[in-house]
Amino acid sequence: MRKKMTNIQYSMPNCCKIILRASTKLLCICIFIIGFSSLAFAKEYDGVWFLGFNLHKDVFSNVKAREAIAHAINKQYITTKIMSEEVVPIGVIPPNMQGNDTTLKEITYNANMAKQLLKASGENRPKELTLLHTDGIKTKMIAETIKNNLNKIGIKINLKEVTYEESAVWGKALNSGKDHLFLMGYKINPFLSIFIGDKNSRLFHALGCDKIPQADDQEIFASYDGTIKSGYSPDKSCKPTNTGKTETEALIRPLLYSKGEANFTFFSNERVDALLDQLAQIDPALKEEQTKRLKEIDAIIYKELPIIPLFYIEKL
Ligand SMILES: [Zn+2]
Repeated sequence: MRKKMTNIQYSMPNCCKIILRASTKLLCICIFIIGFSSLAFAKEYDGVWFLGFNLHKDVFSNVKAREAIAHAINKQYITTKIMSEEVVPIGVIPPNMQGNDTTLKEITYNANMAKQLLKASGENRPKELTLLHTDGIKTKMIAETIKNNLNKIGIKINLKEVTYEESAVWGKALNSGKDHLFLMGYKINPFLSIFIGDKNSRLFHALGCDKIPQADDQEIFASYDGTIKSGYSPDKSCKPTNTGKTETEALIRPLLYSKGEANFTFFSNERVDALLDQLAQIDPALKEEQTKRLKEIDAIIYKELPIIPLFYIEKL
């Protein structure tokens, strides 16, 4: 468990990293306890690790090109052999999370099918691509596997490695939109839904903002909506994020909402945006209404393929 953490990295804001570092001891105790209970219960996940397509690139304008790549990659190998995980991902929403669509079928590993799809994707089809990734041992193994898999269908991959510790370089590279493909993980950030109001300025801040006032002037909230209802406005410099009302939204919105803060595929789908906007309005008591919309999102992402999920990240 701890070993895995050092090999595979996922996105987390700095404030969150600091808190995690400070509470490492506490976390280890939790992991120890979870280690025993997981013998009896299925694993719980709250994150996804994936190959992302830069959809601004013409080579990916036809969904068949993305489907070709999905069929060319040996996900089973990546999940079970490299990551020692049992669950090979299908949709973006992990099995235990609200909205996971259980009717989706696995995208099989089939080089012949991949070649046919690639041919059918037209003139623009990808021939030589760059793949951006960080330097964790397992991340590098996954990048090499993808490189070899895609070579077999006639796509040359140039790997571009960035040191994970240089998070500014990594962020800049992702944002630049220069590369065709990238590898990253994303996990629900529980600290994103904690907001700190300033009783004097009536502004509220995200955790980690420099402008957080002295304790006496603070009012703490556990939801974005709650903060707004109490008459506070979001601070423009730290831009607190509305993570929604369900855990699944907290995973999907940053990655796949057209203006999501971690949307590096540049995926922009009107229906997904509309569904996420509707979710923000639905009474949390109406679970079925939430689930219906989340399932539709899961199915759209599966069909549109802005990302190829490679394994799910376990809940800590
Ligand atoms: Zn702030």
